[in-house]
Amino acid sequence: MSRELIDLAIERLREDFPSKSRSWVRRALVRFMRGTVREFNENTWVVRGLPELGDKYPTYVVRFKDGRYYCSCFESNWGLRRRSEICTHIAAVILYRNYKKLDSDVYASVINIECTDYYLEIPSELKGKVRVVKSVRVVDSSDRLNPRHRVTYVVYSSEPIEVRAKLVCDGDVRELSLKLTRTRRYIVELLVR
Ligand SMILES: [Zn+2]
Repeated sequence: MSRELIDLAIERLREDFPSKSRSWVRRALVRFMRGTVREFNENTWVVRGLPELGDKYPTYVVRFKDGRYYCSCFESNWGLRRRSEICTHIAAVILYRNYKKLDSDVYASVINIECTDYYLEIPSELKGKVRVVKSVRVVDSSDRLNPRHRVTYVVYSSEPIEVRAKLVCDGDVRELSLKLTRTRRYIVELLVR
């Protein structure tokens, strides 16, 4: 496992559950790092219990249904108390999924520009197939009303397609032909951090 990917996977978990404690994140991480999560099918995972984390059963089953996670520990004696919470078995599954996603292949193209006004347009028929993320940093704010930005766009897709795009930078309009080439999902995340 790669440290960088683990850090990003934890970052995503923290963003999704900002109110959760450090110890909750730490326990999820211990479960994940100990390799206790196994994918059973697309929406089901089996998590091996760790007695040192208070688990009373050898395995727990986590399911994802109707946009929510359910864990078999909800059905234990503590079920009523736990039902409303996200247990660390679920958190470990989320970490596992985040990591797997970051470790997967995507096809991407990167555009770097420096402008005051900018816009990138992707043909509407590609929406849903192609995603665009960007990072924006102010590089010159001497004109307070019109600061100059350094913008990085990453255009990516699950397929190696060619994308015609329109890039507008301070009134300069350019037609681009972007060839999306293979990279890893976490590189996309790193580029727009
Ligand atoms: Zn649980």
